[in-house]
Amino acid sequence: MKPRAPVVLRKIAFSLALVSATTAGGLLIPGVNATTAGFAYLLNILALAAAWGLVEAVVASAAAMLCFNYFFLPPVGRFTIAEHQNWVALFAFLATALVASHLSDRAKKQTLEAKGRQRETEQLYALSRAILLTNATQSIGFQAAQHIAQIFDCRAAVLYDAKAGDLFRGGLEDLPDIEPKLKQVVIQGSTLRDPASDLMVAAVTLGGNPIGSLALKGISLSDGALQALLNLVAIAFERVRTEEAASRAEVARQNEEFKSTLLDAIAHEFKTPLTSIKAAATSMLSDPSKLSDQHGELATIIDEEADRLSLLVTEAVRMSEIDAGKVRLDRRPHRVREIVEHVLEHFGARLEGRALALDVPEDLPSVWVDDDLIALALRQLIDNGLKYSPPASPIVVTAAAGDNSVLIRVLDRGPGIPDRDRERVFDKYYRRQTAKDRVPGTGLGLYIAREIVRTHGGDLRIEGEPGAGSEFCMSLPATEERALP
Ligand code: ADP
Repeated sequence: MKPRAPVVLRKIAFSLALVSATTAGGLLIPGVNATTAGFAYLLNILALAAAWGLVEAVVASAAAMLCFNYFFLPPVGRFTIAEHQNWVALFAFLATALVASHLSDRAKKQTLEAKGRQRETEQLYALSRAILLTNATQSIGFQAAQHIAQIFDCRAAVLYDAKAGDLFRGGLEDLPDIEPKLKQVVIQGSTLRDPASDLMVAAVTLGGNPIGSLALKGISLSDGALQALLNLVAIAFERVRTEEAASRAEVARQNEEFKSTLLDAIAHEFKTPLTSIKAAATSMLSDPSKLSDQHGELATIIDEEADRLSLLVTEAVRMSEIDAGKVRLDRRPHRVREIVEHVLEHFGARLEGRALALDVPEDLPSVWVDDDLIALALRQLIDNGLKYSPPASPIVVTAAAGDNSVLIRVLDRGPGIPDRDRERVFDKYYRRQTAKDRVPGTGLGLYIAREIVRTHGGDLRIEGEPGAGSEFCMSLPATEERALP
């Protein structure tokens, strides 16, 4: 920037020259009296105030007052004033000149300010459009820094995203030492101004929390425009986050879709050979007299394990259906007792002598459910009870009427599930470390069970004290009538 002083001096010199020229004109042109000369001086002073400013106009006023006194007020040729009313005229002239200069200068400044504000508004609008229209090929932060430097015409604009720890630079200058200042401003939440190097660093906040900072070199902005600019930067940072979250969600969705499809495909491939194995085992067992004791036992194992595998396959198919939102419920009124007894039959030999206590009253309201699916969910809970509690401990299944619902509980005397994991165990593929080390599993059972129950409009939760075993509570919607006929 060029020094300002010589420019001002030149303008003052020009103002004095103008006053001299007016004086000379007044003296040379015949018939010019004191009043005419006074008005001519005033016109000059107003023109100077409007064109340049107060300093030039005040200097011209003082010079004009002296010339007016010396050349036009009697006695002419001296700085004294003969008549009293001419003193009044002289001071009226000076006061008018100064007040008019001041007013004109103020009007000029206001015009300049209004123009400045309009320019800032246009720049902010251009920036907001540019931020909204950023493209996906480059990082939004980088594009925002470039746009700020270009639109506000500053030498450097550096954005600091505190959450990601990223710096984005725009403009011709690099500002290599700016990083510590940007970080300091985020911590203090303040604005740092360094007029010597024409640098300003301000915190970017969102909802009152500092989320980054912005350094600008080579521009001065009004406080309002700076705040609006910082708000736009905050929006740009938010867009960065939203887009990152969206792309993460998309990757997760594709992963899930892939897993489901794979699971579905594998499950279907398993079904055919399993049906053949089951058919073969059943046919061998249909005439036990043809089998030796040992072969009979082996055929029973094949039969039972084929059932177990078949259950796993059914679960996998159900899961991919649940994931794809394709579960079709075949809902009818059912007695809870019948569903529970049917499930227990399925366990048969797998109980291996373990006590399985039932407490299901006869007069319970019936439930409005797809019995196959609810049996699958219940099987899952009982299966977990068997897997995760000591071999000699009992499993208890109870049912009771709730509010327009029936509550089925499965209790075991195992290690239980601590509070912090009571939600997580329902997550897909989540297995507790203790379980991973001891029992094989997929981490899908509880997820499937809860999805099935929720699809019915019910819920599945863990109740009871941790440490006193596990207590899973399934609530199912009751039908209108108290019990089936
Ligand atoms: P999986 O049994 O295949 O691991 P689940 O979804 O059925 O998958 O269960 C998730 C986790 O919840 C299990 O790994 C286990 O840590 C815990 N869990 C489930 N049921 C019980 C239970 N009755 N007692 C203790 N922990 C259980």
